[in-house]
Amino acid sequence: MSTHDQRKRLKEHSRRRDAAFDEWAERGYQDPPPKFEPIEADLIGLACGAKTRAGTPCKLTSIYTNGRCKWHGGCSTGPSTSEGKKRSVLNGFCPKNKRTHTG
Ligand SMILES: [Zn+2]
Repeated sequence: MSTHDQRKRLKEHSRRRDAAFDEWAERGYQDPPPKFEPIEADLIGLACGAKTRAGTPCKLTSIYTNGRCKWHGGCSTGPSTSEGKKRSVLNGFCPKNKRTHTG
């Protein structure tokens, strides 16, 4: 079962890895590729640990970067960038064939 501290460290690890990958993408995936730091040993095979409807902790080990499985990750919080928010405003107001998504 995962603890709050373990999930927090997993999120931090994922954030650092994503930042290194984004930096590599900005360089056009040129050599040298980023050196990803190894994941800590106690974070390997981490279980979800969310409380199930039966009251027992979830045992799934296929967790996402938020530290929860596909059943316990929570709903999407919606678009986060200003471009995404503009795009989501267009949904439902324009017919599909006339939607531009450019503003
Ligand atoms: Zn779960």
